[in-house]
Amino acid sequence: MSKIRDTFLGFIVGDAFGVPYEGYQRQNLKKEKIGEMVGYKTHNEPPGSWSDDTSMTLATMDSVINNNGYDYEDIMKNFCCWYSNGEYTASGKLFDIGKITRTAILKYRSDENIKKCGQGNISDNGNGSLSRMLPVAVYTYYKSMSDDETYEIVKNCSSLTHSHKVAVLGCFIYVKFMHYIFSGKTIREAYERTFKYRHYVEYAGIRATSYYVKLLTKNLDKLSVDDISTSGFILDTLQAVFWVALNSRSYEESIINSVKLGRDADTTCALVGSITGFVYGNIPDRWVDKIKKKDYILDMIDKYEDISMQ
Ligand SMILES: [Mg+2]
Repeated sequence: MSKIRDTFLGFIVGDAFGVPYEGYQRQNLKKEKIGEMVGYKTHNEPPGSWSDDTSMTLATMDSVINNNGYDYEDIMKNFCCWYSNGEYTASGKLFDIGKITRTAILKYRSDENIKKCGQGNISDNGNGSLSRMLPVAVYTYYKSMSDDETYEIVKNCSSLTHSHKVAVLGCFIYVKFMHYIFSGKTIREAYERTFKYRHYVEYAGIRATSYYVKLLTKNLDKLSVDDISTSGFILDTLQAVFWVALNSRSYEESIINSVKLGRDADTTCALVGSITGFVYGNIPDRWVDKIKKKDYILDMIDKYEDISMQ
């Protein structure tokens, strides 16, 4: 299996694995037996049902495949098709959408202006754009784009829904990290390079960068689990994702550890899975086989790989 397949499948299988546990409090997960791809619970969806994180990722990939590049208006139109018609969903209906994303889609539907639909207040820095950034990371890396070009695509993509500099910078940090992972670095090396990177201030300014100071420290993996939050705030999500990835030694272990953190389990699992799927592979077949619309997903990944490698 190609490594690009591993990163996308790692993401999507992680999302589906986490869906039933979304919203669980950490202490309530202690009595759960976690290890198989189950369904129902929070969203009452059958096993293998992936959520908005995967739907918006597929909507982005489909647009890039059809346009042979990034057309932001077209991506936004695909988000509207997802929201209104249930396209890019596991079972034909939408069951999960973030508040900020929903507001942005409704705004776009009313005035059709992609420059104005993104939500840009400090309180709008949820992880809803971060969780659809994997296609951007893959495309910019395999097209050998410069940091300036990469930042531009990250900013334009995130800003369709989340336009505050803190959200855009969080997406850029994830994309930079994934570039190091794709280049063959270990998770530890990629993390060290990500926090040593000196140019965040030039792109996002001092104020937005200052939010990430705690995240971008040498000893993140040594923090206690009690210091790791999974609130849905982009900074918390990134911290949880890097913390789990640094402390796991296989794909399977990383996904189970992500669920155990609770709350935004599907997004944490998806983003961690994008990292550990690529690095470790060995995504359990018994999980992959349960994924809804598996053939459709594999076909989309293959086409996206072709476009990114051209
Ligand atoms: Mg979700």
